[in-house]
Amino acid sequence: MTFALRPDEVPDELVALTRRIGDPAADLVVLAEGNTSVRLDGDRFAVKASGSRMDLAGAGDFVVGELPELVDVLERGGTDQETLTRLLSAGEARASIETLVHVVALAAGARWVAHTHPTAVVGTLAVREAERLWAEPLFPDEAVVLGEPVWVPYAAPGIALGTAVHAAVRERLDRDGVAPRLILLGNHGIVALGATATEVETVTTMAVKAARVRAIGLGAGTLAPLGIEHARELAGRPDEAARRTLLGGSRA
Ligand SMILES: [Zn+2]
Repeated sequence: MTFALRPDEVPDELVALTRRIGDPAADLVVLAEGNTSVRLDGDRFAVKASGSRMDLAGAGDFVVGELPELVDVLERGGTDQETLTRLLSAGEARASIETLVHVVALAAGARWVAHTHPTAVVGTLAVREAERLWAEPLFPDEAVVLGEPVWVPYAAPGIALGTAVHAAVRERLDRDGVAPRLILLGNHGIVALGATATEVETVTTMAVKAARVRAIGLGAGTLAPLGIEHARELAGRPDEAARRTLLGGSRA
């Protein structure tokens, strides 16, 4: 068995982050939507169990698993959904069906990961123009905090989504050498990657703001994006990097 319930190994900070993100007032998730994870020592990680609610999460709502085994599933390919379900089993509990998305993010270098379905963002990801809508930032803080998000077209949650996210993040790693801070999942939601719990919360909050700005902008006129070159400049400037650190920690 790859996963086990080990509540004593689940960091308090993971439980606290999960409950904050799951607060219905934040409108990031409802019911049992969304999941969080953190990397533990020895190539292990803790991820939310399937079917549990984020706002009511306790240490017993997470399972602990081995990262290399699941990275191998993605690298090798050819695993079917039934086999994945078996791999995610932890006795009476089971790791979230979206665990492979966390595996990709953690293997790419993130220490903390939060996957949510914010209403404001999903609305902008569920239109035909979604990819173009998010291709360039609309305001400087969006460029600084979110960097250049990775876009992943819709794929069914489970092995198909895991495989699609793996391919998209791999392509980004090959290009930039560093993991993205945000992954946009078409018709689905977002994945925030960070070195700290605060960082994934910051990225999630800014993604929601960026979505609202898009919705308001589309109602007010024609969007005038900053342009990708300027966005990269902003994200790479030392003073902006310092601002990002103040906003919630920087990636090592
Ligand atoms: Zn999801």
